[in-house]
Amino acid sequence: MPRPILATIHPAAVQHNLERARRAAPDARVWAVVKANAYGHGIERVFEGLRSADGIALLDLAEAERVRQLGWRGPILLLEGVFEPRDLELCSRLGLWHAVHCEQQIDWLAAHKTQVPQRVFLKMNSGMNRLGFTPERYRSAWARLNALPQVDEISFMTHFSDADGPRGIVHQVQAFERATQDLPGERCIANSAAILRHGGQAQVRLDWVRAGIVLYGSAPDHPERTAAAWDLQPAMTLSSRLIAVQQLQAGDTVGYGSRFTAEGPLTIGVVACGYADGYPRHCDTGTPVLVDGVRTRTVGRVSMDMITVDLTPVPGAGIGAEVTLWGRAGNGALLPIDEVAQAAGTVGYELMCALAPRVPVLVA
Ligand SMILES: *Cc1c(COP(=O)(O)O)cnc(C)c1O
Repeated sequence: MPRPILATIHPAAVQHNLERARRAAPDARVWAVVKANAYGHGIERVFEGLRSADGIALLDLAEAERVRQLGWRGPILLLEGVFEPRDLELCSRLGLWHAVHCEQQIDWLAAHKTQVPQRVFLKMNSGMNRLGFTPERYRSAWARLNALPQVDEISFMTHFSDADGPRGIVHQVQAFERATQDLPGERCIANSAAILRHGGQAQVRLDWVRAGIVLYGSAPDHPERTAAAWDLQPAMTLSSRLIAVQQLQAGDTVGYGSRFTAEGPLTIGVVACGYADGYPRHCDTGTPVLVDGVRTRTVGRVSMDMITVDLTPVPGAGIGAEVTLWGRAGNGALLPIDEVAQAAGTVGYELMCALAPRVPVLVA
């Protein structure tokens, strides 16, 4: 028997979450963001759940090719645009739309020989200070693009730094509106957090929204709101089994560094899952975990191949008992990935993306 760890991907949950994003931004077209191999889920594995998307957005040209190979004929958007001039040939061949965030990308377009003009999304740096033209330089970038025969329609996009937090998006929305107000073209500014929290506003949802983490069932603003509160379903379950049970007495310690000491008699289970599977080593004693669908906690340090869990709430659990690290247990109980991420001082995004290659993956 193989080691019992398993990741299960739920395309029906992705489909549910996509419809949830749509409801939050009515009438906007939805880009399904599948960068980083669909946030670690696998593009091919979630694709069935994404058929009703209006477009697929990603970063990597190889991923764009995979999406075309799956038979996707709709729009595909390269969120960071092209990385070198010859990428434009692939854009022509595969019909990719691409972001334009710097002068060099405009130079490359100007030098590109093509029969078919390309659709571009001109990116504004409205305060994030990663990619894009500042509002002051935005209009001249637009004018340059607009004069190129290589360019078809020009759309407008920006990205929010604080859609999930107290600073909010108003300052960036205003900068975007001021710089684009009389330019003709479609607009796209909202990420998952903006869709859920501000999608009710027409000036936020605009023509397109970009749904990323929401598709995978993690709340972008956890712990302020939970996935359940947003009506999102987990797209990934990480599960394993108990491979040993130990009886501790008061004073006994558990694992490397003896980070946990039993205060009295305690039964613990040893789970076949460790940081080499993508379970975060930063999770210390107290991280939530489900055994036979019953909520309990980890004890001691996460090691490469094992973690240890308190069996007090599930005294009947023995070797072979089901353990849910995140996602949905066999009895239907849920453990949000966001809670595990929080215990590790990170976000659900990172945990999904870090699922290790050695973990077998099932689609169900
Ligand atoms: C990743 C990404 C998104 C999606 O972000 P979420 O927070 O996952 O919704 C949207 N827009 C751009 C430009 C991105 O790179």
